[in-house]
Amino acid sequence: MMLRRPLLAAAIAFAARPIQAQTRSRVVATFSILGDLVREIAGDRVDLAVLVGPDIDAHAYQPRPTDVRVLAAAQVLVSNGLGFEGWIDRLAEAAPFKGRRVVASAGVASLTTGGGQRHGHGHGPDPHCWQDVGRVRKYVATIADGLAASDPGNAAFYRERARLYGGRLEALDKWVRDSIAAVPADRRKVITGHDSFRYFSAAYGVQFLAPRGVKTDSEPTARDVAALIRLVREQKVKALFVENMTNPALVEQIARESGGVVGERLYTDALSAQGGPAATYEAMMRHNVTALVGGMAKN
Ligand code: ZN
Repeated sequence: MMLRRPLLAAAIAFAARPIQAQTRSRVVATFSILGDLVREIAGDRVDLAVLVGPDIDAHAYQPRPTDVRVLAAAQVLVSNGLGFEGWIDRLAEAAPFKGRRVVASAGVASLTTGGGQRHGHGHGPDPHCWQDVGRVRKYVATIADGLAASDPGNAAFYRERARLYGGRLEALDKWVRDSIAAVPADRRKVITGHDSFRYFSAAYGVQFLAPRGVKTDSEPTARDVAALIRLVREQKVKALFVENMTNPALVEQIARESGGVVGERLYTDALSAQGGPAATYEAMMRHNVTALVGGMAKN
């Protein structure tokens, strides 16, 4: 139900385009955050379809028949890579997709997932690079290059928009640093249910404590709960957070039993819907950092 709507909308958008618009490049982005980056770079000069929409967990995504049709008709496919979309290669083959593949994380220094971390992609490179604004600036350059190569008539347009957006991201990165710097160093730690903040942690110096083996799609076990309560008490952490595409039960239970406080919901692997607090990448980062800083003040 939740999955169907954006896909149908995408399919309809492709089918119902007016005649002149058919010269626009058809671009598919795998999930909402990449969709926003493509929109910032390409504006309305491309026909954009996003496979995994707002508030949906891309790790656990099950492609639908409409995805096959959307991909078969596309000139460009923008994916994150690093194993984030475990379903994309088979989908592209099934379509078949014959256009240009743009892997947004290409050339970005990746971190490795820790042992026991299993929320859908197991061991190997950690795909959540977008939690570091600096790495997203590289994403933007890579996506702009891919769009320009696929659609040379608009190359200058894409490059100029990417340059302006890159400037905004540079300012955003500085704002994140300044905001975190205002929190005393010994209080810069929080607890989350899903371990997707390694890049944020490395870039901005916040310690994220997530329990081992917690998946985005399963109920917490008694052992998960006991381990987290121990952690919260040992570390004297009051700042607990849940994420938009994650079952909040575990973190809410921990808060009840440890005296912690659950802060505002964080947006990690998916944007919010339009009108929500994280409808764009920039809004997502500002929302998350504001929530994190407010939570850490209680530590
Ligand atoms: Zn994730």
